[in-house]
Amino acid sequence: MNHIMHVPVGVMPPQKFESVLGAEAYAGFASMFAPAKTLLEGRVIWNINSTAVGGGVAEMLRSLLTYARGADVDARWSVIQGNTDFFHITKRIHNNLHGAQGDGGPLGAVEKEKYEAALKANGEELAPLIRAEDVVILHDPQTAGLIETLKETGACIIWRCHVGLDTPNDCARRAWSFLRPYVGQADAYVFSRKAFAWEELDDSKIYIIAPSIDAFSPKNQEMAADNVIAILHTTGLIADGESTTPTFVKEDGSPGRVDRRTVMFDGGPPPPSSVSLVVQVSRWDRLKDPVGVIEGFVKYVAPASDAHLIVAGPAVAAVSDDPEGAEVLIESLEAWKAIPEDLRGRVHLACLPMDDGEENAAIVNALQRRANVVVQKSLAEGFGLTVAEAMWKARPMVASRIGGIQDQIVDGVTGLLVDDPHDLEEYGNDVRRLLEDAELSERLGAEAQVRVRKEFLGPRSLMQYTELIEKLIS
Ligand code: UDP
Repeated sequence: MNHIMHVPVGVMPPQKFESVLGAEAYAGFASMFAPAKTLLEGRVIWNINSTAVGGGVAEMLRSLLTYARGADVDARWSVIQGNTDFFHITKRIHNNLHGAQGDGGPLGAVEKEKYEAALKANGEELAPLIRAEDVVILHDPQTAGLIETLKETGACIIWRCHVGLDTPNDCARRAWSFLRPYVGQADAYVFSRKAFAWEELDDSKIYIIAPSIDAFSPKNQEMAADNVIAILHTTGLIADGESTTPTFVKEDGSPGRVDRRTVMFDGGPPPPSSVSLVVQVSRWDRLKDPVGVIEGFVKYVAPASDAHLIVAGPAVAAVSDDPEGAEVLIESLEAWKAIPEDLRGRVHLACLPMDDGEENAAIVNALQRRANVVVQKSLAEGFGLTVAEAMWKARPMVASRIGGIQDQIVDGVTGLLVDDPHDLEEYGNDVRRLLEDAELSERLGAEAQVRVRKEFLGPRSLMQYTELIEKLIS
């Protein structure tokens, strides 16, 4: 039985970045192509995680590996398989690492046994493919248990943690204790920000690399205003719109078209194209607080404006490593049902089609571009790619002052930060302020774009990974 899925990765020339980086930054990036090729010749850079679709890690891998391959580096992406028990345990670990209880279940000897049993078969299938000169980057808790087996191949092993929290609590420490015996064996550990690095890890092996977005992917590429409307209308996210064809450019440069329908889970009609839109896009996850997004909007925004709220996430069956998705979607629907009847029609729960990842990305792109305000009211967040995505589109943002969001949004300069992520009033007031103040919105949006260009595009990540690999193998 096959446990490993090898995900096809495209090829894109990294030279594309010349058009967005600016001359000096591009020159720095381009000066690395030849040395990186020499350094990595004959080596495979394995990236291993637990899902090929949905969520930030899959998003980033698809993009970064495409440019690495375009620079003649044999970068690959493999996805492990697990059973229901395994994904419940790893979701619990994920929640704990964010400082949250999750399902409240234990992380003891039984869980350890189930976790290791699920990974054993994956490790046995992967190990024969990996050579001593290779580099293996294992992503997130799901793959930490592979480190010991894969180290026996002689390859250099990097464990990349995409989650974390600013101030550790008992939940986080419990997850660290569970994972540390595995993670400690890696040659390097990469965290998204310094504050996320765990206690009692070997300090000399800790590296910090912030995530990044792809400026050219269907998710973030430029999109004409009439095309935005055509995409949203075609998929059913707005009620009326232009009759242009809803097109986008696929990752391989070929033309793509949006055809599939978004399911409005609340059963209501989508908003008319003329209204102001407040949008949050994220997985159906309690830590993204969709219920808080709805309640804060209904209480503090809706009565004082005619704006509509769209809370959008993937069609839940599509994300295989996220067993809580359906539950959280139902909880969001319950929150929707509790909205006073006269305001209910202004809140929309959108399940975006996931059959074609690029089509889904184009829909997210159009939705973020159409939004008057983008929110990311998370209760915990490793980085929050959705923040960088909206900032890149020069959207004004309201987001919680937590995790990696703080590295992206400079409060009052590149967006607005909500100090207490549980404070619905502060969140609602900030949204209202942006809806009412067009000049402020425009200024924050413009600065946001500048910041992403400088800090959060793929070339910066690629350069940091190359430097790390060089250090480890030389
Ligand atoms: N996303 C998507 N379709 C959806 C919901 C989310 O493509 O229906 C993407 C979103 O645009 C972002 C990623 O999933 O690129 C989520 O990454 P983030 O870091 O914000 O959160 P994570 O899901 O990793 O916790």
